[in-house]
Amino acid sequence: MGLVVQKYGGSSVADAQGIKRVAQRIVATKKAGHDVVVVVSAMGDTTDELTDLAQQVTPLPPPREFDMLLTAGERISMALLAMAIAQLGQVAKSYTGSQAGVLTTSQHGRAKIIDVTPGRIRQALDEGAIAIVAGFQGVSQDTKEITTLGRGGSDTTAVALAASMGADVCEIYTDVDGVFTADPRIVPTARRIPRISYSEMLEMAACGSKILHLRCVEYARRYHIPIHVRSSFSTKIGTWVADPEVVETARRAHVTDTPDPIEEAEMEQPIISGVSHDRTEAKITVVGVPDKVGEAAHIFRTLADAEINIDMIVQNVSGVATGRTDISFSLPRVDGQQAMTSLAKIKDTVGYEQLLYDDRIGKVSLIGAGMRTNPGVAARFFQAISEAGVNIEMISTSEIRVSVVVDEDGVDAAVAAAHHAFDLDATEVEAVVYGGTGR
Ligand code: ASP
Ligand code: MG
Repeated sequence: MGLVVQKYGGSSVADAQGIKRVAQRIVATKKAGHDVVVVVSAMGDTTDELTDLAQQVTPLPPPREFDMLLTAGERISMALLAMAIAQLGQVAKSYTGSQAGVLTTSQHGRAKIIDVTPGRIRQALDEGAIAIVAGFQGVSQDTKEITTLGRGGSDTTAVALAASMGADVCEIYTDVDGVFTADPRIVPTARRIPRISYSEMLEMAACGSKILHLRCVEYARRYHIPIHVRSSFSTKIGTWVADPEVVETARRAHVTDTPDPIEEAEMEQPIISGVSHDRTEAKITVVGVPDKVGEAAHIFRTLADAEINIDMIVQNVSGVATGRTDISFSLPRVDGQQAMTSLAKIKDTVGYEQLLYDDRIGKVSLIGAGMRTNPGVAARFFQAISEAGVNIEMISTSEIRVSVVVDEDGVDAAVAAAHHAFDLDATEVEAVVYGGTGR
């Protein structure tokens, strides 16, 4: 007997039918003898619809009220799910994030979990009930206000709960059969990855792969929580996100019905795990920055003070004749306006010539632990992209990742070309997209 945390995404509980199907699966886990804690997302596109509704009322909703509104989405699905489970003859109780003890920082819309005090959840389990927790929300430790964790945050709720309760595994149920070598919506021949390390999964999530929330993977790595990503629409075996020893422990606790993912994964040992892409960034170029000590520091200090996260940075060699250089960087599109306003204010002190803004860009990243020890990976990646006729605008690397910024229209072609160049294509199509828009 183990403790299993299961998280069901919005497309898995999109309608009454979906809720009943998920309830069956939860009850089956309970009947197999496990304690079950369920984290649920809002039904279907509810969060998007609530966002649109708020926009119709005001272009700038007060953050406190906006969080109140969005958290309602998860309250609907949690209550319906508890009802569906009751209908199947099991006791289930639903809890808001605040009731479940999810304590966060106070920034509305992007709060971070500080601590989880799951006393009531533990009590529900002790009474033999199934606990259902609303994902993506918590309560601020100092302001006592209701907060949300950022889009996709239910994954993080699930892993944080799993960590605080010492769960054997955190199962993330979604609308595809696991983590794939590329988004199957773009590369239909993408292959399922049997097991992926925390660090590779972190890079994928940071590079736009939407399958798991970035902070959920950070949390899992810190607390050694094995994540098992599966589809709620099938019984396929999915992907284990964990380092080998962690998967082994989870399997030994007999909380899984899947074959040994380590044996399965280690048979192949690819150099590259996958190709991720991201269309949520923009690029700003500061043109004609005087080539003097401290200018870059001034520019990026200004952006940091505005709490803007910078991704890639490129500084050209300065022209001998002009003594000036251009600095380009990428950042989240949502912060574009704010960044342009902040930089405009320091135009005279920095003495640059002009600012250019481009949000028609996309980022394509190649990820794999094997690139540490295999030369030529970057060359092969760039070659594939050039053969696809796509121009590279910026490049950045980490130990296990190479990323390029390209024109937005070139993203799909670049992803497919890179996927192909590293022999990641499956011989038969195995990726099924069961639902959801990938939004
Ligand atoms: N419902 C929220 C969203 O759509 C949280 C989640 O699904 O993880 O982003
Ligand atoms: Mg998600």
